[in-house]
Amino acid sequence: MPTETVPHDLPTADDVHAAAEILRGSAHRTPVLTSRLTDAELGASVLVKAENLQRTGSFKFRGAFHTLSRLGPDERAAGVVAFSSGNHAQAVALAAQLLGVPATIVMPTDAPASKLAATRGYGAEVVSYDRFTEDRDAIAADLAARRGLTLVPPYDHPHVIAGQGTAVLELLEEHGPLDALFVCLGGGGLLSGSLLAAQALSPGCAVFGVEPEAGDDGRRSLRAGRIVTIDQPRTLADGAATRYLGSRTFPIIAEYVEDILTVPDDALVESMALFASRYKVLVEPTGALAFAGMRAAVAADPERFSGTRIGVTISGGNVDLDRFAALVGARRP
Ligand SMILES: *Cc1c(COP(=O)(O)O)cnc(C)c1O
Repeated sequence: MPTETVPHDLPTADDVHAAAEILRGSAHRTPVLTSRLTDAELGASVLVKAENLQRTGSFKFRGAFHTLSRLGPDERAAGVVAFSSGNHAQAVALAAQLLGVPATIVMPTDAPASKLAATRGYGAEVVSYDRFTEDRDAIAADLAARRGLTLVPPYDHPHVIAGQGTAVLELLEEHGPLDALFVCLGGGGLLSGSLLAAQALSPGCAVFGVEPEAGDDGRRSLRAGRIVTIDQPRTLADGAATRYLGSRTFPIIAEYVEDILTVPDDALVESMALFASRYKVLVEPTGALAFAGMRAAVAADPERFSGTRIGVTISGGNVDLDRFAALVGARRP
């Protein structure tokens, strides 16, 4: 829940480095994609960190595996509970399976079929709820209390944030400092972890958060200087359809972020098509947020970005093929 007090357990760049050690050998070190066509078109050198190729198809595996790895023996034996519109669910389910921890996942009834199936496939128990009328936090908290489970939040947790930060840590370790970095923004786990990594390895880098136009709570919060809560957004970017930033993600974002941008849904579809045709990778709508935001930012101010080195995250690739075909096939020419 939104709160005005800054928690005492904010993660640091050291925590991101420690998480990277724990993830070594268990998470994929994902590739960094480049395209000469993109670079020529934008007049910049664009490095795309492909977390759609991470285990379970999104960066969420990093935070989940890191968090579960740090549980004590009693907590592991009792099990974990998580709520998610999909990718966090799969991530917790696989991390739990790998570490031998029982997992219960609270998922919306309208979650994409592929995400529901994958979560069950990893051996987790799925509890369904209605995203528009029920409160997932309350359902998960109730399960945690009744069954003695440890709640693994999707973003507002120091170990989750530190784990998510390892993706950009890898990017910066491999490719050196950047001038700008674009990261998608839902609840802010990936963005706040990325900010910590960038502060340590590329302090001069301007880091931008990118969220869906319909779900602009992050931008509003940055402007207001406090966590602003919005109504449940309706956007193609289901992975970033959050209503508020976390009590731990917000202070990190407010301190270090350059700005928060928003993109309309049709720009996500355009970038999904471009990823498929140009980079040969499958990206879900939410996964295309940062790239779509980057393209818009460069188009709006080409001089600022001319000749720069720009990092971009692809956050996930979990989209049903028929949905992908329908979205990309129907886009404006
Ligand atoms: C969870 C998720 C996001 C948003 O991440 P936060 O850490 O909540 O900001 C973005 N893209 C994908 C694919 C996700 O699964």
